[in-house]
Amino acid sequence: MAIIEKDYPTAGSTGRCIGGVRQQFAHPPTIQLMLQSVKLLTEYQKELRWDIEWYQGGYLFLAHSEEKKESYLKTMKIQKEFGLPVSFLSPEECQKIVPSLNLEGLLGGVFCPTDGQVNPFKLTFSYLKEIKKKKGKIFNFQKVVEIKVKNSKVVGLKTDKNEYFSSPIIINCAGPYAKEIGKLVNLDIPVEPERHEAIVTEKIDPLFPCMIVDYREDGCYFVQKHKTGNIVGCYTPIPNIPGHSIDSSFEFFIEMPRRMARLIPPLENVRILRQWAGSYEMTPDGNPILGETPIEGFYLNCGMCGHGLMFAPAVGRTLAYYIVKKESFFPLEEFSLFRDFSKKEVMK
Ligand SMILES: Cc1cc2nc3c(=O)[nH]c(=O)nc-3n(C[C@H](O)[C@H](O)[C@H](O)COP(=O)(O)OP(=O)(O)OC[C@H]3O[C@@H](n4cnc5c(N)ncnc54)[C@H](O)[C@@H]3O)c2cc1C
Repeated sequence: MAIIEKDYPTAGSTGRCIGGVRQQFAHPPTIQLMLQSVKLLTEYQKELRWDIEWYQGGYLFLAHSEEKKESYLKTMKIQKEFGLPVSFLSPEECQKIVPSLNLEGLLGGVFCPTDGQVNPFKLTFSYLKEIKKKKGKIFNFQKVVEIKVKNSKVVGLKTDKNEYFSSPIIINCAGPYAKEIGKLVNLDIPVEPERHEAIVTEKIDPLFPCMIVDYREDGCYFVQKHKTGNIVGCYTPIPNIPGHSIDSSFEFFIEMPRRMARLIPPLENVRILRQWAGSYEMTPDGNPILGETPIEGFYLNCGMCGHGLMFAPAVGRTLAYYIVKKESFFPLEEFSLFRDFSKKEVMK
């Protein structure tokens, strides 16, 4: 097995994410996927003793409108069918979890205590260590520029260092560049990059254990890192910012702290350490694209829509199992390149 990487591992979106892991989705196969990811992360940390800073502090989605509350109550029913321990909390119950939460306009929130956070760098490098132990190879600073196909089967690829790797199996894991890799085999993969920004604060005493998600138009989401006490957070810009730019903006630098302090007033005096940006890799329905393509041996593991870190343990294992056994633990066709992309994920 070989990983061909144009920069170095974590140089892409993975090293730019904030490490949230949740099972609260509306799309049943995504819930199944995430149940598996959470199980695997727990196993990695406990049984394999990977030092990945996996911590289950929960995710709290706040509802500031009847419409949002209704939509959370509706999706909770689906989530409960899969055994997720979700509950809808009153504003006062939310405040028991997040003591400094501003209750103004709050109608309550849906909470799942088994959601959590992980360190993206430690998770990636733990995987790489295991890959090397199993004699896998990692080729950094080599950009894939050509994929060779013979009789509708992949046979190998070429990099910008003019190296040729022959292989009957190639997996497109190029994150926000998945479409560009698809073009190398004349395949249109509907993955579009979108700029998302993030911020990190100085370390403070523990204030709250969970990811706080406020999906109002001027909302945001943030979590206090269990291990270090820094708070990391983002918001989804409206309108979206398409393209590969990963520049930081002054607007985000001003807005993000304001939005966080509106929800947790004591954050007003906390210092910002850094801001940065990265790409989400969006598909038309907000779900990943996994599995086979019309080209034999060419597989897709892309279009993570801003959830690729949390999906990674389950999608990696599922796809590997599928490639070897042609079987999957859950309906992989729901993530097919050829599915109907018109049903959108609502927990976004
Ligand atoms: C601000 C922000 C916050 C986020 N927060 C979260 C979160 O809390 N939880 C979560 O689960 N997700 C989060 N995400 C999303 C998450 O970071 C991504 O979904 C995930 O990292 C995607 O992983 P990937 O391996 O598919 O892509 P990447 O990490 O981008 O890896 C793809 C790799 O492919 C390489 N590559 C591209 N083209 C080529 C080529 N031609 N040849 C060789 N190599 C190539 C790139 O260099 C890159 O290293 C966040 C993202 C951002 C930007």
